[in-house]
Amino acid sequence: MRTMTAATPSLWNDLDLSAEMNAPLGALTWYRSGGRAEVLVHPNTVDALQSLCQRCHEMGIAMRVLGLGANLLVTESGVDGVVVRLSAPAFCGANWLIRADGETIRVGGGAQLMPLTAESARHGFEGLSALAGIPASIGGAIRMNAGGAFGDTAAIVHSIEHLSLAGERTTIAAAALDFGYRHCALPAGIVIAANLALTQGDPEKIRKHLKEVSAYKKNTQPMRDNSAGCMFKNPLDPTTGRRESAGKLIDLAGMKGIALGSAYVSPVHGNFIALKNGGCADDVLALATAVQLRVLEHSGIRLEREVIVWSKKGDVS
Ligand SMILES: Cc1cc2nc3c(=O)[nH]c(=O)nc-3n(C[C@H](O)[C@H](O)[C@H](O)COP(=O)(O)OP(=O)(O)OC[C@H]3O[C@@H](n4cnc5c(N)ncnc54)[C@H](O)[C@@H]3O)c2cc1C
Repeated sequence: MRTMTAATPSLWNDLDLSAEMNAPLGALTWYRSGGRAEVLVHPNTVDALQSLCQRCHEMGIAMRVLGLGANLLVTESGVDGVVVRLSAPAFCGANWLIRADGETIRVGGGAQLMPLTAESARHGFEGLSALAGIPASIGGAIRMNAGGAFGDTAAIVHSIEHLSLAGERTTIAAAALDFGYRHCALPAGIVIAANLALTQGDPEKIRKHLKEVSAYKKNTQPMRDNSAGCMFKNPLDPTTGRRESAGKLIDLAGMKGIALGSAYVSPVHGNFIALKNGGCADDVLALATAVQLRVLEHSGIRLEREVIVWSKKGDVS
């Protein structure tokens, strides 16, 4: 086969998917700004996605997966290769019937967490309400082990259905994912579905919990700004074994409310680096680096970025 790039239509045009070349990727993130993807693909079936993975793997074409873009910054350079989004019904459904194999509910990797939490209350399933208000797809929530004061994603994952970048489909048990604080040892590839271990409970109680968790988030975080949530992980204090608030360290270092170009540290929550409407995504990265340096100088603590950064040069760490 002759050399192909992501933009060579014969890489994907016989598969059951839709593809957009030079797609505005940054606009699909919660920053609503940033660069383009060489090709953005929405597969309609697992088979189509599997074939695409195999072909990209054979051709050495980079493949990335975009969830809801709520923990992602795409630099203005954009990215080469294929970006996959699991937006088709085949990847977004939830089966609210408990399966005979171990009391699990199957949800697609592209399903959105927020509507799922509301739906789970309607169906009387406990577990998801602890994640209320977190913008995420199921795949993104698993990859990041999204969570907060009330619990994390790891607590409800029984197993995942995974497609490797070479196109191998496997089921991986939660224990093998080594979940930790905002960490999941997910092998390179795509979460196409998850089996969630939810328990049945009183819908009214679940609804009440959901409201409580959502209200807590709305009162403590600038949910309407263009951001990706917390920029940095809360660092572990080796003497106490507890996590310190990165937001507090940023505040103490005098960086709360500071702006750089079109990016600013939220005056509401020091760990949220937000972007003005139509701002430059690269300003966010520059400000995050400045904040990191200032905190290091002030407290001697090196903050580790939680937000994932994609750029043409590769993923920025
Ligand atoms: C206003 C706001 C509030 C937030 N609050 C919280 C919070 O309280 N707690 C918290 O933990 N986070 C929070 N976040 C961050 C974000 O919601 C989480 O990190 C979430 O898990 C991101 O999911 P996503 O689908 O948007 O992933 P994306 O941002 O699209 O992607 C993140 C990573 O996951 C990978 N990924 C996405 N889908 C898949 C898949 N199907 N298979 C494999 N890998 C995949 C991507 O490749 C990327 O590496 C917040 C963000 C915002 C904007």
